[in-house]
Amino acid sequence: MTQEVRSGSNERLYVKKFGGTSVGSIERIEVIAEQIAKAQLSGEHQVLVLSAMAGETNRLFALAGQIDPDASAREMDMLVSTGEQVSIALMAMALAKRGVKAKSLNAAQVQIHTNSQFGRASIERVDVQYLLELLAQGIIPIVAGFQGRDQFGEVTTLGRGGSDTTAVALAAALKAQECQIFTDVAGVYTTDPNIEPSAQKLDAISFEEMLEMARLGAKVLHPDSVSYAERFRVPLRVLSSFEPGSGTLIRFDACEDKSNQVAGIACSKGQAMLSLSRTDDSPDPFAAVFSLLAENGVEVDLVTKAGTDDSVSFTLDASRLPWALKALDEPELGTSFGPLVFEKALAKVSVIGAGVHRRAEATAKVFDILGNEGIHVKLMATSEIKLSVVIDESDLHRAVRVLHHAFELNKV
Ligand code: ASP
Ligand code: MG
Repeated sequence: MTQEVRSGSNERLYVKKFGGTSVGSIERIEVIAEQIAKAQLSGEHQVLVLSAMAGETNRLFALAGQIDPDASAREMDMLVSTGEQVSIALMAMALAKRGVKAKSLNAAQVQIHTNSQFGRASIERVDVQYLLELLAQGIIPIVAGFQGRDQFGEVTTLGRGGSDTTAVALAAALKAQECQIFTDVAGVYTTDPNIEPSAQKLDAISFEEMLEMARLGAKVLHPDSVSYAERFRVPLRVLSSFEPGSGTLIRFDACEDKSNQVAGIACSKGQAMLSLSRTDDSPDPFAAVFSLLAENGVEVDLVTKAGTDDSVSFTLDASRLPWALKALDEPELGTSFGPLVFEKALAKVSVIGAGVHRRAEATAKVFDILGNEGIHVKLMATSEIKLSVVIDESDLHRAVRVLHHAFELNKV
């Protein structure tokens, strides 16, 4: 996107995004319509962004898969973008029934311009003129999330979970007071409550921390949407559409209270690790490895070098392992390396928070806690605000629980 960074905001203008479960049935759509009607009466200005009804996008992907698993990306986008058009039209009807003026709009009608990368397009520009006209007439725009249009008028999509990004892009362009992401949980938690029942909802979290949480496995927000929001300084709030509450505010200033310096524990399964050792002393042989992976579209996650730079280990999503192995089976790599060793069924657990910058201390603590539990750390990587370890998938729940407890996250 190329809009400039916001200055000031349009008071009481909210972009509200509802995810798949929030609009997952006719009953749910009626419930949301009721909430929107009430907010309208209280004087709020609202722009809605909807996801497809829960399960619908998966259903569409599966339909295509039955015809051709390698169907063209253009046709895939034409297909999978339809889910959102169903939910926006139904919502417009539910609001109309309540006497609320509303209009459903697809991305081409709004003018959400993206590049032409089907299946993973990026938003370049949003024209808000039409939305502003509708708002001025007291009409609530209901925008299809996830989709865009490219310069040739083709339908594009933003990647799975992309409706969050649509909402943030609209909020940025409209200078909304807040972008509210309504979901099926009360907000952002210190860790996954399904793994650790004492997980606490956070009232606020910094953008930096949220971005790491989203990247490292907390599924409440798409990481792209968090970076867009940070870049365009859009205040973002995650809240439940099922129960009242103020959710979690993602904010620019770091938390004033420094006593709790760890915000949360994120985790993700389905990781794989590859290791390579060099056998000769050609200069920087590992550069070739990573360029081959990049050329083949394999995204590498954590990387560590060991010994005197004699071996390198890195992690990636296990689903990408076959591609990685294929990419590294190249004559270009020559005889500089010993055999490629890989492991699957791994998990990544990350401790996230501004406090992690005191790395030595945090690292020692994590090793200590996991060691006492007999959990073997296969790889560790740190940055300013996160510390990630790679362990066996079967140790995941135990690791999350002991770390959550040790960092006293049940008491935030
Ligand atoms: N419906 C799309 C998906 O399931 C986009 C979204 O829900 O954010 O990925
Ligand atoms: Mg989502």
